[in-house]
Amino acid sequence: MAFVFPPQPVPSVAVAGSEDRLPVRRIFCVGRNYAAHAREMGQDPDRDPPFFFTKPADAVVDAGETVAYPPLTENLHYEAELVAVIGTAGRGIGVDDALSHVWGYAIGNDLTRRDLQLAAREKGRPWDFGKAFDRSAVIGPVHPVSDVGHPATGAIRLTLNGETRQDADLADLIWSVPEVISILSHSIALKPGDLIMTGTPAGVGPMKPGDTCVVAVAGLGEIETPIGARESA
Ligand code: MN
Repeated sequence: MAFVFPPQPVPSVAVAGSEDRLPVRRIFCVGRNYAAHAREMGQDPDRDPPFFFTKPADAVVDAGETVAYPPLTENLHYEAELVAVIGTAGRGIGVDDALSHVWGYAIGNDLTRRDLQLAAREKGRPWDFGKAFDRSAVIGPVHPVSDVGHPATGAIRLTLNGETRQDADLADLIWSVPEVISILSHSIALKPGDLIMTGTPAGVGPMKPGDTCVVAVAGLGEIETPIGARESA
C-alpha cells in the first residue's frame, strides 16, 4: 500500500525542558467554564453539563510564534486557558481516576474569530469557522505531571501589550479538570495526544495586527504570541 500523496506531518507541541515533541491527536475545548466569562458572553453560569467544541490538530502554534491576523474577521479575540494533555487512553473514566490519564499541562490561547462565532451561535450553526481556523490553537510547552503535579489553584492571567486583560484563578473553573476528563470520556474515547483546553476566564477581547499577547499560569510560566499582519484567505 502506498499513499497517493505524502501524508501531512504529525502535528506536535513542545515539551518543557526537552528537545522531544508531544504528538497531537485531537484538540477539545470547553465552551464556558468560568462563571464571570459565561456572564460576559450573555449566558447564565449554571452547572449545566459542559459542552465541547474542537479544533484541528494541525491548528497548533508554539509559544513565541507570530500568528498572522486571520482572514474574514474584524474581531480576533484571545482566550487564556489551562490545557490538560492526555497521556493514557481511556473511556468512561471516573472522576477519581481521571488525573491518572493526564501526561501534563500547558498554557493555551484559544484564538477566536468572535464575530464569526457569535453569528453562528445566533443562527444555531456550528462554531467551526469562528474557533477552528488555521493556527487558532496556541499551545505552550507541555510540563509533565512529574514536574508540576496537577495545577488546580493559582493565577491565570493575560496581558495585551503589557496591560492586564484577564486575571483569575484556576480554582474558579466551574468544571474541574478531572470532571471535564470524565465527562468527555463518556462521550468519546480519549487517547494519548488529546489536548483539552479547559475554558477561559472573564475579560476576553480583541487584538489587532502588531499586538503582543502574553498568557501566564502559576507554575507553568508564560507564553507570548505576537499578532502579525493581516493575511488573506
Ligand atoms: Mn476557549
